[in-house]
Amino acid sequence: MHQCIAVGAISGRRPASKQPYKKSTGFDKIKACYEVDQSPIGKTSRSCPATYVKVFDHIRALFAQLPEARMRGFDASRFSFNTEGGRCPDCKGNGRIRLEMDFLPSTWVHCEECNGQRYNPATLEVNFRGKNIGQVLAMTIDEASAFFESQPRISHPLKLMADTGLGYLQLGQASPTLSGGEAQRIKLVSELIKGRGAKAQMTNRQFQIFNLYLIEEPTVGLHLEDVKRLIDILHRLVDEGHTVVVIEHHMAVAAEADWILDIGPEAGEDGGKIVAQGTPETVAKSKTSRTAPFLKTSLQTK
Ligand SMILES: [Zn+2]
Repeated sequence: MHQCIAVGAISGRRPASKQPYKKSTGFDKIKACYEVDQSPIGKTSRSCPATYVKVFDHIRALFAQLPEARMRGFDASRFSFNTEGGRCPDCKGNGRIRLEMDFLPSTWVHCEECNGQRYNPATLEVNFRGKNIGQVLAMTIDEASAFFESQPRISHPLKLMADTGLGYLQLGQASPTLSGGEAQRIKLVSELIKGRGAKAQMTNRQFQIFNLYLIEEPTVGLHLEDVKRLIDILHRLVDEGHTVVVIEHHMAVAAEADWILDIGPEAGEDGGKIVAQGTPETVAKSKTSRTAPFLKTSLQTK
């Protein structure tokens, strides 16, 4: 428990009918198991960082409480871009309109009706600190975490995303425009945000039940600076009491693990055996592990 485990080079094949292990214990301690992959966030293409981490619910509630909104009888749903009522009818709250063309891929054009602001004029008349709901969705996470500083339920999750290097994304940025790595990090941060509430409810710090996160090669396509931020998120999840299993070739990540299972020695049918296991320091000293010299270098530069 409380561990970050890196599994190296999983490549072995096993017969489908045969159980690959003799026994397994400790599963009763696992509350849930999540595979955190790089697929798009949310159920639809209308999902965005603000809706995925649920910050937008709090922003809508805040707007509904403003005197201008109460006078007009606007509730929180009025400030949704997913339902009719407050959104721009022309672009259906997208701020842009999809152009379908016969011989070319479809493309998006700016919505003239709302000027890209996603809502109808009456909704846009409600302002919080001089900004309407459309302008809020156009803010970056960095800007919004400062703008909503007086509203902890909104600013804390945003700050957490900014801390992990996602501050440049817009609150309302559509899910399909996010890279796989960005989507994966938003998912990891949303787990941290959920965890905060759960941790606050705990009366003691004995984490009896925890989540198990399975993450395959999260560093693919990331710059070194972003790898460091990713490692930071993984450490935070472990600090919350969860267990993180990472399948990874990036030695900077492996060097941060509490326990490594080095699987090899080759790829495909020539692999699948545990070559070395233990703390990074132990595996780095292994004579049989091909990963050892690389791990050793990574540990020295850590
Ligand atoms: Zn529009």
